[in-house]
Amino acid sequence: MENKLMLMIPGPTPVPEQVLLALAKHPMGHRSGEFSKIMAEVTENLKWLHQTQSDVLTLTVSGTGAMEAAIINFVNTGDRVLVGCNGKFGDRWAKLAQAFGLDVVKVSAEWGQPLDPEAFRAHLEADTDKKIKAVIITHSETSTGVLNDLETINRYVKAHGEALIIVDAVTSLGAVNVPVDDWGLDVVASGSQKGYMIPPGLGFISVSAKAWQAYENAKIPRFYLDLGPYKKNAAKNTTPFTPPVNLIIALQTALNMMKAEGLEGIFSRHQRLMTATREAAKALGLGLFAPEGYGSPAITAVAPTGLDAEQIRSVMKKRYDIALAGGQDHLKGQIFRIGHLGFVCDRDILAAIASLEASLRELGYEGFTPGAGVAAAARVFAQ
Ligand SMILES: *Cc1c(COP(=O)(O)O)cnc(C)c1O
Repeated sequence: MENKLMLMIPGPTPVPEQVLLALAKHPMGHRSGEFSKIMAEVTENLKWLHQTQSDVLTLTVSGTGAMEAAIINFVNTGDRVLVGCNGKFGDRWAKLAQAFGLDVVKVSAEWGQPLDPEAFRAHLEADTDKKIKAVIITHSETSTGVLNDLETINRYVKAHGEALIIVDAVTSLGAVNVPVDDWGLDVVASGSQKGYMIPPGLGFISVSAKAWQAYENAKIPRFYLDLGPYKKNAAKNTTPFTPPVNLIIALQTALNMMKAEGLEGIFSRHQRLMTATREAAKALGLGLFAPEGYGSPAITAVAPTGLDAEQIRSVMKKRYDIALAGGQDHLKGQIFRIGHLGFVCDRDILAAIASLEASLRELGYEGFTPGAGVAAAARVFAQ
């Protein structure tokens, strides 16, 4: 049967029907009063989602474009930055910063392990002449399913006093608490195809007052991603260049759905989806790649010891039309990743786990009691 694809990758994520219908509207003029009203509402609601009174700017880029804007607007070539590296996206930060000639000091942990906040503290406390200009962190490391302890690392950044905290929240925003103002996060980047429940194409970036001060002295050449004009235009409920108007209208709908659910509702749903997935994997005798307490509420990486993760993924796709993500780089074949970010409900997890059990059986793996995974997930949902 065709057209029953269930997308369980960590982006693009499933899109609700209301949002699809919003996308189907005729484009409207981006300088029209009608569009300005939509921009005004969307910007207000983005601030709500980020829990900030500061600016949240909307760019026509993928998440990486927002990451690039987060670097080039706030630091200078030659500046020392600490970059947390414990997966593919942390490494991307390091590459990006190096591409612009920053003095990158990597603070690394093994892939699958969380970043160690104490390692950041050591670097920051030793930096008495305040050479470190920014600390750059991936909050939810999508490649390994690890949620880094941003809150603690950020506390050490605040004790340092000088450095900005720049965060990739691409798979944490809209899944787990990221209180931008409470924690004083300076720059937070995210992308539309993740927790926002709309297709790829928009990047978002929140900017604190302290980051705007750094912006004044940041001299890396930039044009399209110069955030100054975005701020000026946002004040007039418009954008410097033609935005993907249909995506913005979709975003309007998606943000209203999110507001109706409420931040607490969104966070507890993702927590429940993660817990059910992790409990099910354990009940099936499959390994979990992220240690207990550090699982990302957006994505669970499963390490099926003794089995080829790519084979499992292949059967899941062919037999059940469920798309899971594979391992990246050296993790290919070692892990598969179940995305549960955005427009995902308890039923989706039950369907995925039941299909996983059936796929494992088909592959001849019988190291579990039939139904054990579904039962474990159901127990979490019954609580
Ligand atoms: C998806 C993702 C990105 C952005 O990737 P794009 O393909 O550029 O949208 C960045 N960081 C993390 C952690 C991600 O999951």
